[in-house]
Amino acid sequence: MRLASFKPTWMIQSIYNISPDKLQQHGIDTILTDLDNTLIPWNHAGSNRDILHWVRLLQQYGINVIVISNNNPKRVRRAVADLGLPFVARAFKPMNIGIKRTLKRFSLRKDQVVMVGDQLLTDVWAANNCGIASIWVRPLVKTDLLPTRVNRRLETIVYWQLKKRYPELGWKGDID
Ligand SMILES: [Mg+2]
Repeated sequence: MRLASFKPTWMIQSIYNISPDKLQQHGIDTILTDLDNTLIPWNHAGSNRDILHWVRLLQQYGINVIVISNNNPKRVRRAVADLGLPFVARAFKPMNIGIKRTLKRFSLRKDQVVMVGDQLLTDVWAANNCGIASIWVRPLVKTDLLPTRVNRRLETIVYWQLKKRYPELGWKGDID
Protein backbone atom coordinates (compact mmCIF):
# COMPACT_ATOMS: atom_id res chain seq x y z
CA MET A 1 0.00 0.00 0.00
CA ARG A 2 1.49 3.30 -1.06
CA LEU A 3 1.38 6.33 1.20
CA ALA A 4 0.49 8.48 -1.82
CA SER A 5 -2.85 6.59 -2.04
CA PHE A 6 -4.00 8.58 0.98
CA LYS A 7 -2.84 12.01 -0.15
CA PRO A 8 -5.70 14.44 -0.70
CA THR A 9 -5.47 16.98 -3.52
CA TRP A 10 -6.69 19.70 -1.15
CA MET A 11 -7.39 19.98 2.58
CA ILE A 12 -10.22 22.42 3.33
CA GLN A 13 -11.65 23.24 6.75
CA SER A 14 -15.27 22.61 5.76
CA ILE A 15 -17.26 21.69 2.67
CA TYR A 16 -19.12 24.99 3.03
CA ASN A 17 -15.83 26.85 2.39
CA ILE A 18 -15.42 25.44 -1.10
CA SER A 19 -16.14 28.23 -3.58
CA PRO A 20 -17.75 27.43 -6.90
CA ASP A 21 -15.55 29.85 -8.85
CA LYS A 22 -12.39 28.16 -7.53
CA LEU A 23 -13.74 24.78 -8.63
CA GLN A 24 -14.45 26.17 -12.07
CA GLN A 25 -10.89 27.50 -12.33
CA HIS A 26 -9.80 23.88 -12.00
CA GLY A 27 -12.30 22.71 -14.62
CA ILE A 28 -14.49 20.95 -12.05
CA ASP A 29 -18.24 20.99 -12.63
CA THR A 30 -19.37 18.13 -10.38
CA ILE A 31 -18.84 17.53 -6.67
CA LEU A 32 -19.11 13.98 -5.44
CA THR A 33 -19.61 14.28 -1.72
CA ASP A 34 -19.66 11.94 1.22
CA LEU A 35 -22.73 12.31 3.45
CA ASP A 36 -22.01 11.66 7.13
CA ASN A 37 -19.88 14.30 8.84
CA THR A 38 -19.05 15.87 5.47
CA LEU A 39 -22.36 17.29 4.23
CA ILE A 40 -24.47 16.60 7.32
CA PRO A 41 -23.49 15.61 10.89
CA TRP A 42 -23.74 11.81 11.12
CA ASN A 43 -26.32 12.08 13.91
CA HIS A 44 -28.65 14.52 12.09
CA ALA A 45 -31.54 13.13 10.09
CA GLY A 46 -31.65 15.82 7.41
CA SER A 47 -30.26 19.06 6.06
CA ASN A 48 -30.28 22.57 7.48
CA ARG A 49 -30.17 26.14 6.12
CA ASP A 50 -26.35 26.23 5.75
CA ILE A 51 -26.35 23.11 3.61
CA LEU A 52 -29.26 24.29 1.52
CA HIS A 53 -27.59 27.67 0.96
CA TRP A 54 -24.28 26.10 -0.14
CA VAL A 55 -25.92 23.58 -2.48
CA ARG A 56 -28.07 26.29 -4.11
CA LEU A 57 -25.01 28.53 -4.55
CA LEU A 58 -23.15 25.76 -6.36
CA GLN A 59 -26.15 25.05 -8.52
CA GLN A 60 -26.34 28.72 -9.51
CA TYR A 61 -22.82 28.29 -10.89
CA GLY A 62 -23.92 25.16 -12.74
CA ILE A 63 -21.99 22.82 -10.47
CA ASN A 64 -23.70 19.50 -9.79
CA VAL A 65 -23.63 17.84 -6.39
CA ILE A 66 -23.94 14.06 -6.10
CA VAL A 67 -23.85 12.24 -2.76
CA ILE A 68 -21.75 9.06 -2.56
CA SER A 69 -22.16 7.35 0.80
CA ASN A 70 -21.30 4.00 2.34
CA ASN A 71 -24.43 4.30 4.47
CA ASN A 72 -27.69 2.50 3.65
CA PRO A 73 -30.15 3.82 1.04
CA LYS A 74 -32.82 4.62 3.64
CA ARG A 75 -30.52 6.91 5.63
CA VAL A 76 -29.12 8.61 2.54
CA ARG A 77 -32.49 9.11 0.83
CA ARG A 78 -33.97 10.70 3.93
CA ALA A 79 -30.94 12.91 4.55
CA VAL A 80 -30.88 14.42 1.06
CA ALA A 81 -34.64 14.50 0.46
CA ASP A 82 -35.16 18.25 0.87
CA LEU A 83 -31.96 19.05 -1.06
CA GLY A 84 -33.20 17.08 -4.05
CA LEU A 85 -29.72 15.68 -4.70
CA PRO A 86 -28.98 12.48 -6.60
CA PHE A 87 -27.15 9.89 -4.52
CA VAL A 88 -25.38 6.55 -4.55
CA ALA A 89 -25.66 4.55 -1.29
CA ARG A 90 -23.59 1.53 -0.19
CA ALA A 91 -20.69 2.82 -2.25
CA PHE A 92 -18.09 0.57 -0.60
CA LYS A 93 -15.43 3.27 -0.29
CA PRO A 94 -12.40 2.92 -0.21
CA MET A 95 -13.08 0.59 -3.14
CA ASN A 96 -13.64 2.51 -6.33
CA ILE A 97 -16.84 0.77 -7.47
CA GLY A 98 -19.27 3.36 -6.08
CA ILE A 99 -17.43 6.25 -7.71
CA LYS A 100 -17.00 4.35 -10.98
CA ARG A 101 -20.71 3.53 -11.04
CA THR A 102 -21.50 7.21 -10.46
CA LEU A 103 -19.17 8.42 -13.24
CA LYS A 104 -20.83 6.01 -15.64
CA ARG A 105 -24.41 6.71 -14.59
CA PHE A 106 -24.01 10.49 -14.91
CA SER A 107 -21.60 10.36 -17.89
CA LEU A 108 -18.87 12.25 -16.02
CA ARG A 109 -15.22 12.57 -16.92
CA LYS A 110 -12.61 11.93 -14.24
CA ASP A 111 -10.98 15.34 -14.74
CA GLN A 112 -14.23 17.27 -14.18
CA VAL A 113 -15.11 15.82 -10.76
CA VAL A 114 -13.78 16.04 -7.22
CA MET A 115 -14.57 13.74 -4.29
CA VAL A 116 -15.16 15.54 -0.97
CA GLY A 117 -15.05 13.64 2.31
CA ASP A 118 -14.06 13.71 5.96
CA GLN A 119 -12.07 10.46 5.98
CA LEU A 120 -8.67 9.73 4.47
CA LEU A 121 -9.22 5.98 4.76
CA THR A 122 -12.50 5.90 2.86
CA ASP A 123 -13.21 9.04 0.83
CA VAL A 124 -9.71 10.16 -0.16
CA TRP A 125 -8.42 6.63 -0.68
CA ALA A 126 -11.44 5.82 -2.89
CA ALA A 127 -10.81 8.96 -4.97
CA ASN A 128 -7.16 8.02 -5.47
CA ASN A 129 -8.17 4.45 -6.32
CA CYS A 130 -10.26 5.95 -9.07
CA GLY A 131 -7.75 8.55 -10.25
CA ILE A 132 -9.88 11.58 -9.41
CA ALA A 133 -9.11 14.72 -7.37
CA SER A 134 -10.12 14.86 -3.71
CA ILE A 135 -10.84 17.35 -0.97
CA TRP A 136 -10.37 16.20 2.61
CA VAL A 137 -12.56 18.20 5.03
CA ARG A 138 -12.71 18.24 8.81
CA PRO A 139 -15.64 16.21 10.22
CA LEU A 140 -18.68 18.40 11.04
CA VAL A 141 -18.96 16.96 14.54
CA LYS A 142 -16.27 15.48 16.76
CA THR A 143 -18.05 12.17 17.35
CA ASP A 144 -18.28 9.38 14.77
CA LEU A 145 -20.20 6.26 13.88
CA LEU A 146 -18.67 3.24 15.61
CA PRO A 147 -16.72 1.77 12.64
CA THR A 148 -15.33 5.21 11.89
CA ARG A 149 -13.76 5.53 15.35
CA VAL A 150 -11.28 2.77 14.51
CA ASN A 151 -10.47 4.41 11.19
CA ARG A 152 -9.79 7.71 12.93
CA ARG A 153 -6.89 6.22 14.90
CA LEU A 154 -5.32 4.86 11.73
CA GLU A 155 -6.06 8.14 9.99
CA THR A 156 -4.05 10.04 12.60
CA ILE A 157 -1.05 7.79 11.94
CA VAL A 158 -1.43 8.02 8.16
CA TYR A 159 -1.72 11.80 8.27
CA TRP A 160 1.39 12.02 10.43
CA GLN A 161 3.29 10.02 7.78
CA LEU A 162 1.84 12.15 4.98
CA LYS A 163 2.95 15.34 6.74
CA LYS A 164 6.48 13.99 6.99
CA ARG A 165 6.65 13.23 3.28
CA TYR A 166 4.59 16.20 2.06
CA PRO A 167 5.30 19.09 4.45
CA GLU A 168 3.21 21.42 2.29
CA LEU A 169 0.02 19.64 3.41
CA GLY A 170 -2.16 21.56 5.87
CA TRP A 171 -5.69 22.85 6.47
CA LYS A 172 -6.70 25.72 4.18
CA GLY A 173 -9.69 28.06 4.06
CA ASP A 174 -10.47 27.39 0.39
CA ILE A 175 -9.08 25.80 -2.78
CA ASP A 176 -6.02 27.63 -4.11
MG1 LIG B 1 -18.04 10.64 6.41
